[in-house]
Amino acid sequence: MRIIAGPCGAETESQIMTTAKFLANRGDVYAMRAGVWKPRSSGGQFEGVGEVGLKWLAEARNQFGIKVATEVGNAAHVEMALRYGVDILWIGARSSVNPFYVSEIAEAVRGTDVEVMVKNPINPDLKLWIGAIERFENVGVVNVSAVHRGFSTYGEKLYRNTPLWEIAIELKRVKPNICVIVDPSHIAGKRSLIDSVVKTSINYQMDGLMIEVHPNPNEAWSDKLQQLSFEEFDKLVNENNHTFRLINGATPLIERLRQEIDEIDNELIELLARRFDVSKRIGLVKNEEDMPILQLNRWDSIIKDRLIKGERLGLSNHFVKGIFDGIHLESLKTQNSLRIEKEGI
Ligand code: PEP
Ligand code: MN
Repeated sequence: MRIIAGPCGAETESQIMTTAKFLANRGDVYAMRAGVWKPRSSGGQFEGVGEVGLKWLAEARNQFGIKVATEVGNAAHVEMALRYGVDILWIGARSSVNPFYVSEIAEAVRGTDVEVMVKNPINPDLKLWIGAIERFENVGVVNVSAVHRGFSTYGEKLYRNTPLWEIAIELKRVKPNICVIVDPSHIAGKRSLIDSVVKTSINYQMDGLMIEVHPNPNEAWSDKLQQLSFEEFDKLVNENNHTFRLINGATPLIERLRQEIDEIDNELIELLARRFDVSKRIGLVKNEEDMPILQLNRWDSIIKDRLIKGERLGLSNHFVKGIFDGIHLESLKTQNSLRIEKEGI
């Protein structure tokens, strides 16, 4: 597990130096993060200390030999951050959502050896996230990684940003060479949830963690509810250290069980194909008889029956309904196109 930690924002020189010293002394932290330009929802909030923060980061890097990372939102930020020797630039969720910003930033890093971390866009759009990552690959950045920080939703919710793990997992599947680093702080939004997000990151074989740590979280100038104290960070990392180091490979038992799953999936696919074959034949008969394709009564009784059967076997209604909605819709589409074909429209 690659661990990146540090305050949400750089606030003072002593805050940065104290944090850098703490993180460097641990010996297992890949880099220190600290935003010097903070994208805030409203004006009037703390928007970062700007260039002076880069000076502190450079000092921390020189004094403690730790890599430093900061967020950039435009080409001028990139130029300035590189001038101070920042090792890692990250693209925030509010920037990765916008291809104009991403391509401007990508052009600005072309030809440098800076590392880039691309946070997911605030909306759940995997293509947009991948598009942003690829813009950096295309300008020759060798070390591009992704940061999963959850997705915006409106209204009451448990997480500040809903994790939607399936998107991070799909990213790992389609871009296997990209490290996916989870940002439990921005997903959780509060200290009490961070531990469970870290556990889930481990269980889902994510490649790293970016965690907000502050010498005095309750006094932080931004994101104070979600930043960990040094003691809390030590506890979290030390408790999980053995799993961070666990080998990635599967055990023989898992291998066997996976074989079983593969066999079941093959059967499922064959069964589905058989079912669609029958549904096509029904479609042909309906065409002969000039019957409408959708019969709501029949569909209603199917779904009720399948839900009861599923429930008996411990399958949730939500799950069974989702599967049969999908199957039914596909049947309707198939029968409908047979009808259209027959009528020569
Ligand atoms: C941050 O990392 O401090 C930050 C602003 O994150 P995000 O872009 O994920 O909201
Ligand atoms: Mn933050």
